[in-house]
Amino acid sequence: MEVHFLGTNGWYSDHKGNTLSTYVRLPDADIILDAGNGIYKADRLLRPGLPCYLFISHFHLDHIHGLHYLVKLRPPVLHIVSSKGTTPVLQQFINRPYTIPYDRLPYPVHFHELADGWNDMPWGRVQALPLVHEITCYGYRLEAAGKSLAYCTDTGMSDNVPVLGREADLLITECALLPGVPDGGWGHLNPQDAATLARRAHCKQLALTHFAAHDYPELADRQQALTAASAIFPHTIVAREDTPLVL
Ligand SMILES: [Zn+2]
Ligand SMILES: [Zn+2]
Repeated sequence: MEVHFLGTNGWYSDHKGNTLSTYVRLPDADIILDAGNGIYKADRLLRPGLPCYLFISHFHLDHIHGLHYLVKLRPPVLHIVSSKGTTPVLQQFINRPYTIPYDRLPYPVHFHELADGWNDMPWGRVQALPLVHEITCYGYRLEAAGKSLAYCTDTGMSDNVPVLGREADLLITECALLPGVPDGGWGHLNPQDAATLARRAHCKQLALTHFAAHDYPELADRQQALTAASAIFPHTIVAREDTPLVL
């Protein structure tokens, strides 16, 4: 399993990077987690002949505005995976008159709604559980080829994060807030909260991503998040765009 962070900014893209999207390379499939505008870089990673599965966590714009770039990708087939009841939402705004509809893309698109809990996939299995956020948002645990990865963003403090991330090879959480800043009610984590959840999960590694672009004005500012989180959970890294991680 190989992880490429294509976008690590929360809210908006700027000189530091793009809004949220993460590519995961499995032996038998290409996975993309969320469609912030970092997804435009996925075209150089997708492998000919392998299906692509795009997981959507929720419908805040920084996680979906990259759907407008799907025409740039060339998978043989795209499976868009989201939580129950969400397919009509996905089909509403990727459509005329806003942009070209899915059936005009240069490849077939299929939609899948996951049940809460475990779901079998052709390349492994996925656990889907709700997180704590302003709108319905799901976290996903992917298991394939003997490796496990949990993706939990966006969320406030949620007991489902340690469930999804238990003993995972990698737990990816958001880190929208600065160290010590409490959640203002939308459902976000500061680095200490993220590290506390990682410690409860007994995961092997925590990767922080989704740094709010306005609160972390420079890349160097993310170092303070790393310092604060590492004091609680030492095996913490800051997600870096275009720096692959091999699990
Ligand atoms: Zn977000
Ligand atoms: Zn959100």
